[in-house]
Amino acid sequence: MNLAIASTALATIVDHAAAASPLEACGIVVGTGGSITEALPATNVAADPATAFEIDPAALLRVHREARDSGRAVVGWYHSHPNGSAQPSTTDAAGAVEDGRVWLIVAGGRISAWRATTGGILHGRFDPLALVAA
Ligand SMILES: [Zn+2]
Repeated sequence: MNLAIASTALATIVDHAAAASPLEACGIVVGTGGSITEALPATNVAADPATAFEIDPAALLRVHREARDSGRAVVGWYHSHPNGSAQPSTTDAAGAVEDGRVWLIVAGGRISAWRATTGGILHGRFDPLALVAA
């Protein structure tokens, strides 16, 4: 399946990952009709941000509300793997509690896209998406 994403959102994610390295960067992606129009960097509040990510819950609430008020929706999240591959880890799979969310993983300047789904082909939790820059 294809997933359209604004080129400005791609740039935001890659730049944020580079700036946050060697810590994991994370953020929220919003859009309409399932496509991503904007990436919003968030603070990584994980106990050990070098090996994990947790999006600041206050930012998540705020973005949910702002997206709804502007006729958009939270499509999913992104985070970086500063020293890893651009694939969701088993930890990511364990943390992917909501079906249907898009997970973007950035590593080495490359972004991969996944949809969280029960029975996905990766870790039983993720199916790959093809990113199409818009
Ligand atoms: Zn991860």
